[in-house]
Amino acid sequence: MTKYDVLIVGAGCAGLTAAIYAARAGRRVAVFEGMGIGGQIATSPLVENYPGLASVSGMEFSNSLLEQAMGFGAELIPTMVSRLRAEGDLRILETDEGEFAAPAVILATGTHHRPLGVAGEEEMVGRGVSYCATCDGAFFRGKTVAVVGGGSAALVSAGMLADLCEKVYLIHRRTEFRGEAALADRLRSRENVEMVLGETVAELVKSGAVLGGVTLASGRSLTLDGLFVAVGQQPDNAAFADAVELDERGYIRAGEDCRTSMPGVWAAGDCRTKAVRQLTTAAADGTTAALAACGV
Ligand SMILES: Cc1cc2nc3c(=O)[nH]c(=O)nc-3n(C[C@H](O)[C@H](O)[C@H](O)COP(=O)(O)OP(=O)(O)OC[C@H]3O[C@@H](n4cnc5c(N)ncnc54)[C@H](O)[C@@H]3O)c2cc1C
Repeated sequence: MTKYDVLIVGAGCAGLTAAIYAARAGRRVAVFEGMGIGGQIATSPLVENYPGLASVSGMEFSNSLLEQAMGFGAELIPTMVSRLRAEGDLRILETDEGEFAAPAVILATGTHHRPLGVAGEEEMVGRGVSYCATCDGAFFRGKTVAVVGGGSAALVSAGMLADLCEKVYLIHRRTEFRGEAALADRLRSRENVEMVLGETVAELVKSGAVLGGVTLASGRSLTLDGLFVAVGQQPDNAAFADAVELDERGYIRAGEDCRTSMPGVWAAGDCRTKAVRQLTTAAADGTTAALAACGV
């Protein structure tokens, strides 16, 4: 079993911030990442609200965090963590690359996209249904697409797609957006964006093997080449459910001090119970958890 001083699960903003603090404090640190390095923000075209960085792409932001953490000596282990258990004073992470042990573990597993929940959605992913405008928008250049959702992620996606596509419908179940007012105002001034408010998607309509459109709850049909789902995020902490206490929505129960129900284990960033999930709050948690894990 390989031993470290601090083990961090997730290489998003919270995990990499924790790695910067712990590695800079001279601890031997390993960061485990099972999917994309940088976490959610790596898929965002533009970040304009991180203090001190007026405008930066999500990818640039993530790369620079990773570089900073590795620069202080943190190690990246590209694998998914499947379980956490305690053995005396050690906390053990189980992965496909073997077991890793440390007296301190920081869970920074973030969240991932929530599905729309309509029949046939899963089989249409990659055939017209997408959850990432940054990743897949270019495939729909000059075409007609719809975005579903009312938060900032949906508004950002619609704006990005309006630059590429001939027509963008923005379908939202309410008549007001949850997302930033400035983003919604910008979209209202776009000629190729049509707001479809107070509506939900009832059915995906196929055209051969690919998406041909949607039918809305009102019965209105939209002919579409692509449907971008941006209806929110959900945590995925099932792997840790037998080790730390989760709330009813699956977030790890932890307060501002990031302490979980298991001593020696902290939760940082979007994966924990909290009111505001942003880069700044993820970075703050990463700092708090790392300093606590280092006993500072
Ligand atoms: C499209 C979009 C745009 C956004 N724009 C902004 C913005 O402009 N400003 C802002 O402040 N916030 C923005 N946010 C929110 C911001 O991205 C999040 O608040 C932030 O990324 C949270 O960081 P995190 O480290 O807690 O989690 P995440 O970024 O979700 O990172 C968690 C990481 O953990 C990994 N992981 C999970 N489980 C495991 C496991 N078992 N084993 C190994 N690895 C695992 C995941 O693969 C992921 O890489 C945006 C979000 C999205 C989706």
